[in-house]
Amino acid sequence: MNVGEYLRKKREREEDQPVFRKMCVQCRQPEFSCFCEHIKSFDPKIEFAILIHPLEARRRVATGRMAHLCLENSHLIEGHNYTDDERVNALIAREDAEKVILYPGKSAVNLTQSQTDLSTLFPPTKKLIIFVIDGTWATARQTMNVSRNLKMLPKICFTPAAPSQFRVRKQPQPECHSTIEAIHHTIDLFGDSRGFKASNHEHDHLLRLFGIMVEGQLELIRKASNPRRPSGKSTWRTKSRKKQSDAAHYPVGIQEKTD
Ligand SMILES: [Zn+2]
Repeated sequence: MNVGEYLRKKREREEDQPVFRKMCVQCRQPEFSCFCEHIKSFDPKIEFAILIHPLEARRRVATGRMAHLCLENSHLIEGHNYTDDERVNALIAREDAEKVILYPGKSAVNLTQSQTDLSTLFPPTKKLIIFVIDGTWATARQTMNVSRNLKMLPKICFTPAAPSQFRVRKQPQPECHSTIEAIHHTIDLFGDSRGFKASNHEHDHLLRLFGIMVEGQLELIRKASNPRRPSGKSTWRTKSRKKQSDAAHYPVGIQEKTD
């Protein structure tokens, strides 16, 4: 091997090395895609408990964490089997609040189709805690199956009005929504019944932030798909392609055939 060939191979090896970037501790994104400057927190008058699966927590695109950063009084609790989870059990034990879980099923109250006023179903004299499982449909179902405390909670669901905008991941059905979209829709439905003025559209910030994140990720995928891009690094290419074929996201809001 001559010197020129040696240097060329050395350069190729260096280019194949993973690039370690500084991560933002709040949104867990690399600095170049940190979305913290766009976060605007607000009080939806509902206490959301976002139950994030460990696999979901490691994803670059974790919309449950994104929602948690925007929602005042929300909880982000990582786990799989919550049966003995102290934080979850403490929330379930709260006597000052109604507790429900956003999860489709035969026994779920469909908020969209409900003939009863939501302020009658959930009187505002008590606080409202809504548990939301953040994960793929498969991991959400596993979590529900093994978590005895979550199984006991009354279920709510809704019929989505529009397809998901989560174009970074394949959705199994157009009505399947990301966690942040599902939370936005839930706030929309409860709105005034909780004393939150939905007509002010403060909660639409969740969708704006989501849109910024989706566009950012698509831009990275587009750049990574172009092998002649200026940076010449290939670390994003393989990772981004994997993301495009990611497993379907938890279809919050649709009604399942069976419980
Ligand atoms: Zn950040």
